[in-house]
Amino acid sequence: MRPFVHNTHSSRIVFGAGSLTGLPAELEVLGISKVLVLTTPQQAMLGERVAGLLAAQSVGVFSGALMHVPIEAAVEARAVAARLGADGCVAIGGGSTLGLAKAIALTSSLPIIAVPTTYAGSEVTPIYGLTEGGRKITGRDLRVLPRSVIYDPELTLTLPCAMSITSGMNAIAHAAEGLYAHDGNPLTALMAEAALRSFADALPHIQVNPQDIATRSLALYGAWLAGTVLGQVSMGLHHKLCHTLGGSFSLPHAETHTVILPHALAYNAPAAPQAMAIMARALDVESAPQALHALALRLHAPTSLRDLGMRADDLDLAADLAVQMPYPNPRALQRDAVRDLLQRAWQGLPPA
Ligand code: NAD
Repeated sequence: MRPFVHNTHSSRIVFGAGSLTGLPAELEVLGISKVLVLTTPQQAMLGERVAGLLAAQSVGVFSGALMHVPIEAAVEARAVAARLGADGCVAIGGGSTLGLAKAIALTSSLPIIAVPTTYAGSEVTPIYGLTEGGRKITGRDLRVLPRSVIYDPELTLTLPCAMSITSGMNAIAHAAEGLYAHDGNPLTALMAEAALRSFADALPHIQVNPQDIATRSLALYGAWLAGTVLGQVSMGLHHKLCHTLGGSFSLPHAETHTVILPHALAYNAPAAPQAMAIMARALDVESAPQALHALALRLHAPTSLRDLGMRADDLDLAADLAVQMPYPNPRALQRDAVRDLLQRAWQGLPPA
């Protein structure tokens, strides 16, 4: 066994159908009594429901969370939290809502209680992102790591099927890249493999019966594990490409992950045979890249960048940007090979 370092982040995890009702007690455990509830405009009603549940423990609802955390939204939310005298934030929603809570915590150190409703995994990572002047910057800071996470699978029953599949693929990407991360360890590998197995089981069932709470629980469990891996180890080419495509070309987050993942894994496969073997074992297939492409097709998820609105003329620039700054990746970054990868992903072809 090769030497390793394992660095645990401490969040309390409360998991179970109906566990949202334990939110008031969770605030008491943390010694927080005046929270600002954060969510998106689309989930504003859910935000109001949570404020109702918290009664006097809530000072208000801010439902202005937007994709990729524009700095203007962060500045406004910070001002609202300060004006209302909030001593914490409850973030209920997906990665965008979590991102807004993290933007507040970054400058105020206000504790976050996260109630995730997608599979993105941000609730268990110290990673934040902010978009200013069309550029998204990301960083790591323990101040933004939520203190408590309430995983209530009932809240995912409303996640539309298409979004459930792409969000699940986003989580699969965290687990898959975690398996070949240079700073991974035996425990993160176990979590990654279990996450992949959970989603391989859950996603096809969600497609058939999105209201099945057992399946939704399995997927949310996988999301916790995959997010934990994301928070603890370095991601490689796949995440870098998706960050570039989202940040510079405004492609949608989870859908872009779904399209790119089979291609990025195929690119790295020759340099990461052990990780590929674990992925294949977890998914019960021969080739993880081919199987993930086939799964996306079978579940009617997007498989081409063209369908996401990417222009063919932008592929060269995307390849340049993706190899500009060095970052850890099992296979060396070759600009022409990355350009080929993007071409195949743009056309919706199976991975090479
Ligand atoms: P999202 O948070 O943008 O949500 C997409 C839409 O779905 C929103 O309108 C939201 O209100 C709605 N929605 C969410 N859950 C729902 C539910 N259960 N029922 C009905 N509607 C629901 O999507 P996302 O994919 O979760 O997050 C994407 C963002 O998160 C990106 O900006 C990405 O960069 C970021 N992210 C960050 C990390 C991190 O560790 N910092 C990790 C993963 C993703």
